[in-house]
Amino acid sequence: LLQKFDVVIIGAGAAGLMCAAKAAARGRQVLVVDHANKAGKKILMSGGGRCNFTNYFVAADKYLSHNPHFCKSALKRYSQWDFIALVEANGIAYHEKKDGQLFCDNKASDILNMLLDECATAGAVIRLRTDVADIQQTGNDDYRYQLSAGGEVLQCQSLVIATGGPSIPTLGATGFGYDIARQFGLKVYPARAGLVPFTLTDRNKALSEALSGTALAVDVSCGGMSFLDDMLFTHRGLSGPAMLQISSYWQQGDELLINLLPAEDCASLLRQVAHERPKLLLRTWLAELTTNKFAERWLDGHALAAATLAQLSGAEMDAIAEGLHQWRVKPAGTEGYRTAEVALGGVDTDELSSKTMEAKQAPGLFFIGEVVDVTGHLGGFNFQWAWASAVAAAEFV
Ligand code: FAD
Repeated sequence: LLQKFDVVIIGAGAAGLMCAAKAAARGRQVLVVDHANKAGKKILMSGGGRCNFTNYFVAADKYLSHNPHFCKSALKRYSQWDFIALVEANGIAYHEKKDGQLFCDNKASDILNMLLDECATAGAVIRLRTDVADIQQTGNDDYRYQLSAGGEVLQCQSLVIATGGPSIPTLGATGFGYDIARQFGLKVYPARAGLVPFTLTDRNKALSEALSGTALAVDVSCGGMSFLDDMLFTHRGLSGPAMLQISSYWQQGDELLINLLPAEDCASLLRQVAHERPKLLLRTWLAELTTNKFAERWLDGHALAAATLAQLSGAEMDAIAEGLHQWRVKPAGTEGYRTAEVALGGVDTDELSSKTMEAKQAPGLFFIGEVVDVTGHLGGFNFQWAWASAVAAAEFV
């Protein structure tokens, strides 16, 4: 049985559903296929279950890509304000958590249900539990692509790849979109895990294990980038927003430079407090700035752990300050796709039109969302790229 559609979208995630709703609203006959048993699983998992759906401060410098300019056009044409207007029109309550990050008051399912409602209202059809194979060009301009989906043969004028990236395979994530891109001769940048916790070895692993659950506001630098945010010690290593953010700029073998007390100047502070409270123990001084547990573990085995501030020489104070302001950590690796929020890399943007997301060498074939080599920082930027690239394509499919 051969079925024909104007548009077939592979992937019923953030980008696929948005594209389906907008293209169907234009009057296009749209089918979305997905191999998962549920649409939008990552939306449901996102933002700790509350979906950080966009950010007040969307800008190109919040994205990593081999071409940092590519994302600008789509982000400008469908901005955070457009998505916020959609959320408000649907009566979804939301709030700003910090740094412009917008979350649902209630649940992430509010966003998924909104997208599913938009699809249903516009008449886009969604088929789940549907495996896709055998994608071919037909050579016929009316129906340019043919594929087999769930055992049926489909033809469509426009084929949209919205299969996301390979992070969190248990949610149905695959690198299928990259395979399709390569099949049609498009260059794909190798993918790697981004927004992901670090794993440690040896002494640092023992320290983070002992401090598991402790959070500190830190300033972390690596790869020419730095982030001021919370860091969390875990059983495996280092996590928390500061570490997730810097992980996207980290390469295997790189060292992280972590300022554990960015709000202080410890060298002067030690001198000042030594003058005011000479009998204060070094450990107590550090505990007052951080936590008891941190001070105890950080100074564990340190020759001066039990010293009073009056007993410290200037050079010792400087060394203690430097240790806290310039903690150098060489991660063993990251937790990888098992826990990564995104995959960096993907379809080379030079292969796509920034206006339409259509492949230059394969007319009628579109790539949107995370499968493209555009990856946002933590904070709602990845969803905003999914919405914006989806809308860009929806106007031309
Ligand atoms: P996805 O939403 O991943 O959708 C891809 C779809 O394609 C899936 O439904 C999948 O089943 C389907 N698919 C894959 N392979 C195939 C195949 N071979 N055949 C058929 N179908 C296939 N971003 C934010 O901006 N804010 C957040 O709060 C946030 N929180 C996150 C939390 C977690 C735990 C994770 C993992 C990610 C989070 N992200 C967040 C990132 C965000 O979820 C993604 O960037 C976004 O979902 C990408 O949208 P997409 O449509 O490109 O891909």
